[in-house]
Amino acid sequence: MTARPLLLATANRGKLRELRELLSDLTVLGLHDVGIDDLPETADTFLGNATQKAVEAARRTGLPCLADDSGLCVDALDGAPGVYSARYAGRHGDDEANRALLLERLRDVPDALRTARFRCVLALADEAGALGSQVLHTEGECPGVIVRAPRGEGGFGYDPLFVPEGDTRTMAELPSAVKHSLSHRGAALRAMLPTLRGYLSSL
Ligand code: IMP
Repeated sequence: MTARPLLLATANRGKLRELRELLSDLTVLGLHDVGIDDLPETADTFLGNATQKAVEAARRTGLPCLADDSGLCVDALDGAPGVYSARYAGRHGDDEANRALLLERLRDVPDALRTARFRCVLALADEAGALGSQVLHTEGECPGVIVRAPRGEGGFGYDPLFVPEGDTRTMAELPSAVKHSLSHRGAALRAMLPTLRGYLSSL
């Protein structure tokens, strides 16, 4: 058990819920627990944004911070919406408008070309602790295809439109434990966990 809890540096409720589930044996806080509404995210890569959020949250709170930057990269759209996934249709976090715009942009794209992947970069920063100016990163991705109409009530964001490779259900139709076992965020976190646990237990 650590005296300094881990801060999950995301204001996105869906991500926070998933990261809490995946880290259920650790003492974790969300941004609302430390009075931060949101964090700047001005880079044009997942790595840049995850680093920016982790470093800024660690600087403001003095806590070890884990930040996620993630999004959906669609092959027929040259990787869009990518880092702009949360504000694809203009308003940050308007999942329904984002899904509608994606379907519209893919309307004439045949099934065989509707391939895509979710990508996630996690960054761990702890300026006041042993990491100093060092930031640790891991990545995960989840390939799949974009369907023609939303299905399912679970998950968040583009989940109702995304069928992961090897399954026939959308991410929003999968039980959360199955989503975690397949998802980009689950993969990035599994890669980070040994380091994270080692780091937290050494504090
Ligand atoms: P950001 O990383 O906070 O900039 O936002 C990531 C955006 O990517 C979310 O708002 C969603 O639109 C999308 N996204 C990221 N991960 C997932 C996921 O697991 N399921 C569905 N959409 C996701």
